[in-house]
Amino acid sequence: MGVIGTQRILESEPSPGLFERIGRFLAEQRLSPEPAHYTFAYHVMSDPEGPLARAVETLTDGGVRLSRKDIVSLGGEAVAGPTVELVAPAPARNTAPEEEQPNPAALIDRAKEHVDDFADTVRAIHVETRGFGRDIAASAAAIRRQGAVEGMDEIARLTGAMLDRVRQAEARLEAATRETEALRSALDEARDSARHDPLTELANRRAFDEAYAALVPGTAVVVAVCDIDYFKRINDRFGHAVGDRVLKAISQTLVAECEGHLVARVGGEEFAILFVGIALEEACAIVERARAAIAARRLRLRATDAFIGAITISAGLTCATGAEQQEEALARADAALYAAKHAGRNRVDIAP
Ligand code: GH3
Ligand code: MG
Ligand code: MG
Repeated sequence: MGVIGTQRILESEPSPGLFERIGRFLAEQRLSPEPAHYTFAYHVMSDPEGPLARAVETLTDGGVRLSRKDIVSLGGEAVAGPTVELVAPAPARNTAPEEEQPNPAALIDRAKEHVDDFADTVRAIHVETRGFGRDIAASAAAIRRQGAVEGMDEIARLTGAMLDRVRQAEARLEAATRETEALRSALDEARDSARHDPLTELANRRAFDEAYAALVPGTAVVVAVCDIDYFKRINDRFGHAVGDRVLKAISQTLVAECEGHLVARVGGEEFAILFVGIALEEACAIVERARAAIAARRLRLRATDAFIGAITISAGLTCATGAEQQEEALARADAALYAAKHAGRNRVDIAP
């Protein structure tokens, strides 16, 4: 495929930046988000200094749009079809921020769906055509064995030429299959990282929302919201970097104590936990153990080995059902958390 080669997205760039740029490129070039176009755009945008990006830059100098011929000559594939604006048009004033840009995680999901379909199609074509070249080769050999009937030489020559083309097509299909498989796994990774908080490696708010939304309606669950007490003081006294390490340490304790349940970082120093299949009392006992374990930790400063001092969390819990909007459940758990803060912090409260 010309200058196109396979790369892993995540090694070179944080995925949101790359996806945004791919989206912008497709919109600017009026290309529909077909897997072929997406693949081309990915190769252009993922290696901005590479030969492909430079060739595109030269061709589009002065705002010229790439033609289908240009794309094919660069090793890409141009698909006919309606163009789709991947990037929202310039937002009107007062538009809510989340409407201004396509959500990177949603974009990843959409790209993943396209690539999955494309990979399946390529694989199916590959399977269907695999025996074709062999059949033509057998026919060509049979024709040659038949001897010199008039016109046979020409038929054999044509069959041979056809065989060459089939072999080339098979090789290209094989390469396309390899590339889409690589893209598919890169998108799997991107999809995964779009649902994780990079600092603590916990699930993020989106992952929590999706887990809640995926509950079978009526499922009894317990939702807990935990918040680090007086965390601002840690930052103020020791700096943001130490604050970050404290956040990580507390995340690890929460995950260890709540093993088997989803722990998500849903805000700066706030965590939400989704307990499925256990009663309120049991969930409360788990959160209480986590609270005690965190309070018992004696974190030290790396540089001086001095103790940071006790760090505590407060938590609020509530029962919920999958049928209920998760915002309502979170609001109840938040109210219980607020009560725990008011009652002196370093405690777990249950919503009435
Ligand atoms: P409270 O007990 O009432 O919760 O007090 P608090 O100080 O924890 O609460 P407040 O909401 O006043 O401050 C939260 C602080 O958390 C402010 C912000 O600087 C800090 N914070 C939020 N996210 C991060 C982060 O990613 N890293 C660091 N180091 N600090 C963070
Ligand atoms: Mg807070
Ligand atoms: Mg706090």
